[in-house]
Amino acid sequence: MGLDREQIVELLNEKDPQVVSNLFAEAYRIKVETVGEEVYLRGLIEISNICRKNCLYCGIRSDNSTVNRYQLTKDEVLDAAKFAIDAGYGSIVIQGGERHDKAFARDIRKLIKKIKRLSRENPLGITLSLGEQPLEVYEDWFDAGAHRYLLRIETSDNQLYNMIHPSDPIHSFNSRVQALLDLKYTGYQVGTGVMIGLPFQTAGHLADDLLFFREFDIDMCGMGPYIEHSQTPMWSLRTLLLPPEERLSLSLKMVALLRLLMPDINIAATTAMQTLHPEGREMAIMAGANVVMPNMTIQQVRKEYKLYENKPGIEDDAAISKSRLEHFLNEKNIPIGWNRWGDSLRFRNR
Ligand code: SAH
Ligand code: SF4
Repeated sequence: MGLDREQIVELLNEKDPQVVSNLFAEAYRIKVETVGEEVYLRGLIEISNICRKNCLYCGIRSDNSTVNRYQLTKDEVLDAAKFAIDAGYGSIVIQGGERHDKAFARDIRKLIKKIKRLSRENPLGITLSLGEQPLEVYEDWFDAGAHRYLLRIETSDNQLYNMIHPSDPIHSFNSRVQALLDLKYTGYQVGTGVMIGLPFQTAGHLADDLLFFREFDIDMCGMGPYIEHSQTPMWSLRTLLLPPEERLSLSLKMVALLRLLMPDINIAATTAMQTLHPEGREMAIMAGANVVMPNMTIQQVRKEYKLYENKPGIEDDAAISKSRLEHFLNEKNIPIGWNRWGDSLRFRNR
């Protein structure tokens, strides 16, 4: 759809509830027309909170000494994968802190291979979200059988990026962009995204983020509200933030506008939206999202993977979070793509 930057900014600032609800309805209509009615599931495994980075917004940044660091064992990850197979999720996402040691790269490769073997009869789609890695590592994991990768640009504005990250070589905007290019070059379906409602972020920045996604020609997108965490440097900027309901509403508008700009990509209804409202993910689906990532991380470590505070579902297990969502989708007559990968249509058509 031919929305220009000015129109996008105007819609992001739109306050009239009728205009906003028309925008959501139009995005939903376009979604159904283009990628279909189905919502696809990806069981989320938070494999480890050990991270070498120090992003100024993130609860598991390396300088946060109040976090108990964990790493799931191979068997714990395989149990989660089995759960996903039995539950009919079709795909999993392995997400965690960024590590660069050789043992880590090797262990992830082995895990991917094991999951492939485990799901021989009904292969699980495997998405990774393990940060910036050298091209060889991306290639190695791709060869092992991973086929989708999520790496958020966080913000497409170089200056704002520098404000929310330490200024050192491992937190550089250019290497983030390079990593996204490397992922595309390797052959992954590439997902990126941004945080919405960051301090100093304007509607103009967000419009540029959407245009960045289109320019980069992404396959998938996961974006959600920024949520302050008391054990991070950005906590001190919390008075500059929009109220939670406005951050959520802005996030929903971003989903809807992206659906209009890129009708055939996969867009996730993210957990951070659910943090700001119990039905935040459901609202995102009604605004054009078509992917949900139920959390399957085992209870014992869930509370240690807090990128932000008040993360929902910390007490739930995977089946409970699944059934609540399922109930909503059933009520709305929205089908779930059980046992299907639900790959990005844009990627398939490219
Ligand atoms: N380490 C990997 C994956 C885990 S972090 C990576 O950084 O890519 C996954 C995402 O969580 C990040 O991309 C960021 O957008 C989001 N995140 C981190 N802290 C957050 C916060 N305080 N509020 C909202 N989202 C946050
Ligand atoms: Fe590490 Fe990702 Fe958190 Fe940054 S956002 S500190 S890379 S887990």
